[in-house]
Amino acid sequence: MQAFDIKHRHPLKGLNTFGLDVYADTYFNLLHTGQINQALDQINRAKRYLLLGGGSNVLFLGDYHGTVVHIGLKGKKVIGRDSRHVYLRLGAGEIWQEAVLFCLANGWGGLENLSLIPGTVGAAPIQNIGAYGVELEDSFQDLEGVELSSGKTRTYGKTECAFGYRDSIFKRVAAKTFLITSVTLRLRLNAKPVLAHEAVSQQLRTMKKSAPTIQDVSDAVIAIRRRKLPDPAELGNAGSFFKNPIVSSERYLSLQADRPAAPGYRISDSEVKIPAGWLIEQAGWKGRSIDGRCGVHHQQALVLVNSGNASGQDIMDLATAIVTSVEDTFGITLEREVNVIGPPA
Ligand SMILES: Cc1cc2nc3c(=O)[nH]c(=O)nc-3n(C[C@H](O)[C@H](O)[C@H](O)COP(=O)(O)OP(=O)(O)OC[C@H]3O[C@@H](n4cnc5c(N)ncnc54)[C@H](O)[C@@H]3O)c2cc1C
Repeated sequence: MQAFDIKHRHPLKGLNTFGLDVYADTYFNLLHTGQINQALDQINRAKRYLLLGGGSNVLFLGDYHGTVVHIGLKGKKVIGRDSRHVYLRLGAGEIWQEAVLFCLANGWGGLENLSLIPGTVGAAPIQNIGAYGVELEDSFQDLEGVELSSGKTRTYGKTECAFGYRDSIFKRVAAKTFLITSVTLRLRLNAKPVLAHEAVSQQLRTMKKSAPTIQDVSDAVIAIRRRKLPDPAELGNAGSFFKNPIVSSERYLSLQADRPAAPGYRISDSEVKIPAGWLIEQAGWKGRSIDGRCGVHHQQALVLVNSGNASGQDIMDLATAIVTSVEDTFGITLEREVNVIGPPA
């Protein structure tokens, strides 16, 4: 198996969707499973390492003084079928949107509401990507990978992944210690479209689709996303910077007493999810720019943008100011969705 090229002082500008002009001391692209032992050797010798997919959920605070391992493992294989499902194994480095298109072309349902989410397949389980009423876990079968310290391969089933809202075991106890090499999805034959999200139903009505197919749902989601979210190729961003906070029903009622228009979505008998974008907008941040360097997107307050020449620290300072301001205004603490890659601890 061909050895990979190890590069020094490698530019990461094209490998983070904030478009930050940062460098990795050492970098290599892991392209084949046959290179994993060599990769483990490099990782275990590195003073610090970072596994990187598409860089669409990271914020670099500066150059990365360590080894960046870009996960480029490709591959698509149907590994099983039953009367209602197809089981598709995808290499961790496959592009998520290409996987969505591949499934749609074959008529396999489950991923259409997750259309156009940037990034790779291998990163999708890390925060259990979700959009428009669907999460990765709804189509997840299992994943395979390797423990970085021991080199042992391991399979994680759905329960072991402990998926939650933008959360999984890979953000907690297994954080940074496990390299996901492939993900197997359980896709539906004759899938019924998921239309629970009002924005999707509304878009389908606009498109005059009274009996929508999964392809129509994907088209609708793409149209909404293109309208609402800045394209990282034009304006650096990492999608939602914060998670939507989950508060107790009592806390939500007291917020509503103050602000009758406060939106909230009941997620259990005792908890309500509040859109973080609304809180940020109400605190006066929507559309604000910090010296023309970075700012809060004018259409979607949950998205922080690099307006051209921001540093990671500029964006981090903005995020910190927003958290303080929302806390002061509402007594609610926003939690970051984006992974901040800081200097060594
Ligand atoms: C415009 C825009 C819109 C977005 N919309 C959504 C959305 O609707 N819903 C949503 O959930 N997210 C959304 N995101 C966030 C992002 O697309 C997802 O989190 C995506 O899964 C990140 O994939 P990535 O390959 O870019 O991961 P990266 O940013 O490269 O990495 C993210 C994390 O995963 C780790 N990681 C990556 N690959 C592996 C691997 N193979 N093994 C182990 N660890 C790994 C990294 O170390 C890092 O901690 C959006 C981002 C942007 C820029």
